[in-house]
Amino acid sequence: MRDIVLGCLILLIIGCSGVATSYQPDPGVPVLAPHEPAYEETIQLRYLGAGGYLIRRGKHAILTAPLYTNPGWPRVGLGWIAPDTALIDRLHPPTSPGEVGAILVGHAHYDHLLDVPYIARKYHPEAKIYGNRSMANLVVAAEPRLEDQVKVLEEEVARGGQPGKWFYLADSTIRFMAIESDHGPHFLGIHVMKGEAEDGLKAVPRSAWAWKEGKPLAYLIDFLGPDKAIDFRIHFQDATSHYPLGAPPDFAPPDSHRLDLAITCVDTWFQVPDYPEALIRNHRPRYVILGHWENFFRSPTKPAWTRFSSLRLRRFIPSVLDAMPPDTDWIVPLPGALYRYRPAPR
Ligand SMILES: [Zn+2]
Repeated sequence: MRDIVLGCLILLIIGCSGVATSYQPDPGVPVLAPHEPAYEETIQLRYLGAGGYLIRRGKHAILTAPLYTNPGWPRVGLGWIAPDTALIDRLHPPTSPGEVGAILVGHAHYDHLLDVPYIARKYHPEAKIYGNRSMANLVVAAEPRLEDQVKVLEEEVARGGQPGKWFYLADSTIRFMAIESDHGPHFLGIHVMKGEAEDGLKAVPRSAWAWKEGKPLAYLIDFLGPDKAIDFRIHFQDATSHYPLGAPPDFAPPDSHRLDLAITCVDTWFQVPDYPEALIRNHRPRYVILGHWENFFRSPTKPAWTRFSSLRLRRFIPSVLDAMPPDTDWIVPLPGALYRYRPAPR
């Protein structure tokens, strides 16, 4: 009897500790160097915080809009915000000239766009910046010389299950398509910073409230093989959405392909029922990243993992796990960490 009680106790401790540790952010893996055999085919993804990911394969990369500045609550609520350029210089990962062909922006709230004009001008002058009209107006207001780099996608998006336009980068080894999406409420069903930043702004707004979201977009990003077939398909969202808004459209061959990786948005998940479960159930990604989970009112120089984020993820993850196919793997990414993904065998 004593052994049974002891055995149950041990199982309970292992079970509980397993649950607790598995919800911790994944520390990532070392970068794969160009001389290593799997380098050319491996997707190397670095989480940069908020909606920011640097996604590389071989010598080509695509960037989604990062935030490093993380202004605190008082500044966001009542004060002025501006990019912390010293912090960006310290945290933005180095890239080769011309390596990043595009910067994708899902919507124009400050936590996705505040740092982008400085990053684009200083580090990626060859990259085009894709997003909605509000994004374009805010970026040009912040850095007028980026006018030729911004590209408004609102007329070329996938909508109502119909595919939109593919944009090709990097010798046609990377392509992406924007998808009409929406943006869940922030708290108590209230959705703030809606609308559009107007054309011809004289200066970039200093209040966070003026960084209006515009029409939210999700993206599909394909990495293509030498034969132009799809090697690896990523679905990216930097905000929650009400399914089927933001979901991949219906494709016929050769454009149909199981999602390899779904990059989801944890922030305000509790405001949108069935997000991201509906997306995961219907599109069965092989991998899931639960991103944009950390407190972006807190400096990224402080540890991202807090008791609050732990509690929040504990409530979020079980329902997401229920929606996952049995062969799906998932992580909570750590800002700054690198993750590797391999295409499925053809
Ligand atoms: Zn937002």
